[in-house]
Amino acid sequence: MSGRELIPRVTISARATERIRAGHVWVYRSDVVRARDVYPGALVRVERSSEGNERSPESRRFLGSAFYSASSQISLRMLAPHPVEDLSGLLRKRIESAVAYRQRFVAETNAYRVIFSEADGLPGWVVDRYNDMLSFEVLTQAADRGDLRELLVGELARAYQPASIVERVDRRVRRLEQLSEKPEGPVVGAKTSTEIQMNGVRFLIEALGGQKTGAFLDQRENYAAAAQYARGEALDVFCYQGGFSLHLAGGCDKVTGVDSSRPALEMAERNAALNGREIDWIEANAFDLLRDYSDAGRRYDLIVLDPPAFARSRASLESALAGYKELNLRALKMLTPGGILVTCSCSYHVRSSEFLEVISAAAQDAHRTVRVLETRGQARDHPSVLGIPETHYLKCVIAHVNLSK
Ligand code: SAH
Repeated sequence: MSGRELIPRVTISARATERIRAGHVWVYRSDVVRARDVYPGALVRVERSSEGNERSPESRRFLGSAFYSASSQISLRMLAPHPVEDLSGLLRKRIESAVAYRQRFVAETNAYRVIFSEADGLPGWVVDRYNDMLSFEVLTQAADRGDLRELLVGELARAYQPASIVERVDRRVRRLEQLSEKPEGPVVGAKTSTEIQMNGVRFLIEALGGQKTGAFLDQRENYAAAAQYARGEALDVFCYQGGFSLHLAGGCDKVTGVDSSRPALEMAERNAALNGREIDWIEANAFDLLRDYSDAGRRYDLIVLDPPAFARSRASLESALAGYKELNLRALKMLTPGGILVTCSCSYHVRSSEFLEVISAAAQDAHRTVRVLETRGQARDHPSVLGIPETHYLKCVIAHVNLSK
């Protein structure tokens, strides 16, 4: 029997067929017409359902190969537009090409994303390199399969020979995928903290303590871009462990970082000491602090806004946009004439055009003229793939701000 006949089939609706043909890589549960005897995490053949009287030959119904999840709202994650007979071989090649892509395009750092799930054709895996340490996270039933984990860890060890490979666990994701609970920790070696550098700035990394995977690597190129405009006094709002603050410190007279998380600020202070910088860290709710400071007439020459994702779904878009508007309005009012606004949104559900409209509306209300200097996205180790909108999420606008005359 050939391997191909062992691969189960899943048939999907006409609507989902259109989306897949247009390049999308997800099929939602509501679009699955039939998935009989398919085990969680299986590699499957995806076919268009032969609804009505239509009797098309199988070859015309075949849409590609995918990983199946028996519990997630995303039932299928497309893997290839062709039948896959050698799954390990395909995954190995994709891992190799993800590594080669970073070798070619990532510079000025020893910390970057090595594998970014769908953006690297490896749905369900996220891997980051932090100097001599790698961290990975598994997001789906297929990506959690013992044989595939072994393959991933083996390939990563071979490619980087790291001191350790650490697994990070998002318990919410594991629950949604009905995966067993798992402790976080090293699966190779024992090291869980290290030091990285990006753009010549040094950072401490605790692979298991911090939010996300230790640092916001997706902002790395935006840090360098923002640093170009550093001058006078800067306010870094939602500063986390000081990514923007530390990059601005070299060019500014004074930098203040604000965050509501005390552990993040403690790490920020350790990072500042590591770089021999003095930065003021303030533990506060950013909304309250911006209101108080703008009421008190405080002025800054550069303000960074990098809030957490306000829109977790398209349904929360309106309230998210209201949040972005309020922050940007306050910041615009607090900038000195000719000041620089660096404003970000990492909500996938907020489109670039919508984000620009919000900044524009805030500028109107604040009576400011905003000249866009740069519209930026995530760093290139977090590839944004055309046709897969899910891979593009970070917006970063750098603008010059004046009083409207
Ligand atoms: N700019 C950072 C990343 C920011 S992530 C960097 O480049 O590394 C978002 C941050 O917002 C988190 O550190 C979180 O603690 C903080 N945060 C969330 N809600 C907040 C609030 N209401 N006020 C202040 N900080 C908040």
